[in-house]
Amino acid sequence: MSDATTGPAPRQGGSGAAISIRGVGKEYAAAAGPVRALTPTDLEVKPGEFVVLLGPSGCGKTTLLRMLAGLVTPTEGSISIGERKLFAEGDSKPSHDALDSLGFVFQAPNLLPWRKVWRNIALPLETKGVSRAERKERAVELARAVGLEDFLDHYPKQLSGGMQQRVAIARALIHEPSILLMDEPFGALDAMTRDQMNLLLQELWLETGKTIVLVTHSISEAVFLADRVVLLSSRPGRVKDVVDVEFARPRDLLVQNDAGFGESVERLREQLGGHE
Ligand code: ADP
Ligand code: MG
Repeated sequence: MSDATTGPAPRQGGSGAAISIRGVGKEYAAAAGPVRALTPTDLEVKPGEFVVLLGPSGCGKTTLLRMLAGLVTPTEGSISIGERKLFAEGDSKPSHDALDSLGFVFQAPNLLPWRKVWRNIALPLETKGVSRAERKERAVELARAVGLEDFLDHYPKQLSGGMQQRVAIARALIHEPSILLMDEPFGALDAMTRDQMNLLLQELWLETGKTIVLVTHSISEAVFLADRVVLLSSRPGRVKDVVDVEFARPRDLLVQNDAGFGESVERLREQLGGHE
């Protein structure tokens, strides 16, 4: 673990970063006056890196992830995805070119109940004019990658919560984005299912080389999954610490019994002031 209290210094354009966040902050307009959700923040994510944003409820994690997803406009600062600007300083709308590189998974799987598993997975390809045969072929491939090859013709209500979230992950990957953005994707699952999903996600990440930015308020999930944990503090949200996690990959669940794992969790817990 490093003792860095700030992220790496932002480099100039053409840095080769997967995501560059420069001076990005957010103030929401609200009836009772403006709410500062995130102070201006710098962060770079390297291609293929697994970065976890960790912090207590209300510290601006979702706000930051939704800005990366082009769903919320920054109040200040700029965001690049690879070499493309998603938001230049002052832009009120995201650039659609940059959005093509992104896949999203949220806490709720948001599946269409009347569609079978494979047709939920393939949904994003329908607006892209991909033939039915190719959509099915790609959906089957991704269903296999998330362990759902035997459930292609099931409907969402026939699946457990963990399986529904597997469908959401496959759907997020179907247009072959290089970056996966995940907002508390396993927050609604029981502890054992969550462990299984963490293992699955690590395996997918190792196999595909995607860049992942995942939000969680679970310290142990953050340390288990991350190459780097970015710790946010609340009111207003700001980066409080960046912690490198150096356990070898693939990690198995027993790594949580390692003394070093416990130390990382303790360090983060202290800084969060006992919140998890
Ligand atoms: P987190 O995901 O870490 O729980 P959020 O990004 O959802 O935090 O919220 C950060 C802060 O911004 C909170 O104080 C929240 O109430 C406020 N906030 C979030 N969305 C809005 C909005 N659309 N309008 C006004 N305030 C908001
Ligand atoms: Mg949130």
